Amino acid sequence: MSKYWNKKINEAEPYVAGEQPKPGQKVIKLNTNENPFPPSPMARAVLRSFDISELRLYPDTNATEFIEAVAEVEGVKPTQVFAGNGSDEILALCFQTFFEKDSNTDLPVLTPEFSYSFYPVFESFYDIRSKKIPLREGLRLEAEDYVGVPNCGIAIANPNAPTSRTIGLEDIEKILKGNPDSVVIIDEAYIEFAKPYFTAVSLINDYPNLCVVRTCSKSYSLAGLRVGYAIASEELIEGLKRARDSFNSYPTDRLAQRIAAASVLDVNYHKKCLEEIIATRDYTSEELRKLGFDLPDSSANFIFAKPCEGLDAETLYKNLRAKGILVRYFKTAGINDRLRISIGTREEMEAFIAAVSEEVTNAKNS
Ligand code: PMP
Repeated sequence: MSKYWNKKINEAEPYVAGEQPKPGQKVIKLNTNENPFPPSPMARAVLRSFDISELRLYPDTNATEFIEAVAEVEGVKPTQVFAGNGSDEILALCFQTFFEKDSNTDLPVLTPEFSYSFYPVFESFYDIRSKKIPLREGLRLEAEDYVGVPNCGIAIANPNAPTSRTIGLEDIEKILKGNPDSVVIIDEAYIEFAKPYFTAVSLINDYPNLCVVRTCSKSYSLAGLRVGYAIASEELIEGLKRARDSFNSYPTDRLAQRIAAASVLDVNYHKKCLEEIIATRDYTSEELRKLGFDLPDSSANFIFAKPCEGLDAETLYKNLRAKGILVRYFKTAGINDRLRISIGTREEMEAFIAAVSEEVTNAKNS
């Protein structure tokens, strides 16, 4: 609290990011869904050849080189792509652009009960009412639950975080058709890890109310660069530009635009990293199941696992932390019996499984 802050900031409940270790601290970091592989070699080539004197000049507001790269890879028009400073910024702009508190109707934004924990932060910061839609048995999202519920917008992460589960395109269409007057955000931060791969981008020409939000942070190994993008109808993209230019008209810098463009165009390297992470995810899931853990099949670069009987999630989180392995534990009722574990390299996941096995043995003997 401060007398210098306004009411909104005094009352804000900011997002709490996962722990970042201090430089030089040696840990196995499986807590913030980063990619264990380095960015594309093309990104390094950009860095090497970058002319520093370019930084005198402001960057291109629209990040044209980057959005053209995305358009080419995703098979859409550059006018259907919007770039921002990480997908968190894009999501913030989406909430400000498409959702609103209307004092006459007071309609809520619909989000899954357990989902990306930034959504409720945006809702309260932008003063929009929220309605959480419960998940079904097994943390499953049911499309029908989003139809016939009055709302001013819908935001769904697909794959959902932290559950790691997806809904298919038919379900997404059901939600879009059932809510033609609302914008439906499909946050695809992790979709490239889905096997088989699919994307709601394939629906943008049929649904002007669909806004797909993507990021370079996860599958492109560029969390530190801060580049995200939205793919949607030109009408929605125009709205995002109006919001951006009312706040910060240069959200992505010159170097970031160039590196992100080169990374997106390096399709083969991207594919290779994805395949390796998917294989390691499947290995880790299988090993955890052998140890008696319960987890849904993951479509993301993380898994959401409930420890075996006799081992509680919080204790396991603390014990792993003491061994230098960071995973994510949410104290939230309803999911506080699970851990979210990001997928690292094969070696890291073998070390993780060995540490978990030890904990299981200790718990059984105690
Ligand atoms: N959406 C979801 C579901 C996420 O988990 C994250 C990562 N915390 C983001 C969006 C934001 O990613 P970034 O801002 O790095 O693009």
